[in-house]
Amino acid sequence: MMPETGLFIVVSAPSGAGKSSLCRRLLEACPKLRFSTSFTSRPPRPNEVSGKDYHFVTREDFQARIERGEFVEWVENFGHFYGTSGKAMTQALQSGGDLLLDIEPRGAKAVKRAFDDGVFVFILPPSLGELRRRLETRGHETQAVIDRRFAQARSELAEIGWYDYVIVNDDLDAAAERLKAIYVAEQCKTNRLRDSLKQFMNE
Ligand code: ADP
Ligand code: 5GP
Repeated sequence: MMPETGLFIVVSAPSGAGKSSLCRRLLEACPKLRFSTSFTSRPPRPNEVSGKDYHFVTREDFQARIERGEFVEWVENFGHFYGTSGKAMTQALQSGGDLLLDIEPRGAKAVKRAFDDGVFVFILPPSLGELRRRLETRGHETQAVIDRRFAQARSELAEIGWYDYVIVNDDLDAAAERLKAIYVAEQCKTNRLRDSLKQFMNE
């Protein structure tokens, strides 16, 4: 039984909670799920691949895309622009593919409003102390940036209440299992399978 359109999962977390690690695991485990590559004006980090992790563009290019209405949502975060292409998202979903979005809460809320759909998952670190430790061991940012990310974490945590699911990323394997379980369960929701169910009954 196949749903007509794809579903999308939005994952948000304070920076350093382990969201990238968990998203990577989920994508490896689920070939039907594709990562929604955002646009950003932030410079690439070592190991980041343009067109895969992000579409890296200049601030001017990003602003021109805002003016052309290309983004279903965009934000300015840590001094850089981040945004999701509405067209890319709609095309992927209409062709039946499932999408994973890694976006922060303001963008997540805008996507929820625009599509009136989606599965919203918030990743929590085991504690704020552990969050700071993970930010520091990631090792590619200055102390000032780490402090700013930590301060932002507190305001993002205030948004947790409207998300559908919360995962505490204590043990990475266990947290990855929980994220996969959410995706698998959402694929089985009756309202995603209405058309296939009708066909099934009419056969
Ligand atoms: P985010 O994408 O949320 O900023 P990352 O996935 O980059 O976070 O993880 C931040 C750091 O914490 C990385 O060094 C990562 O290896 C580590 N990490 C992630 N999950 C766990 C975990 N469950 N236990 C210990 N360390 C973790
Ligand atoms: P980073 O610079 O660490 O890759 O990302 C910083 C923050 O921006 C993360 O919280 C990430 O989820 C968020 N982000 C990445 N892409 C988008 C996007 O397209 N839209 C929004 N709103 N946030 C994004």
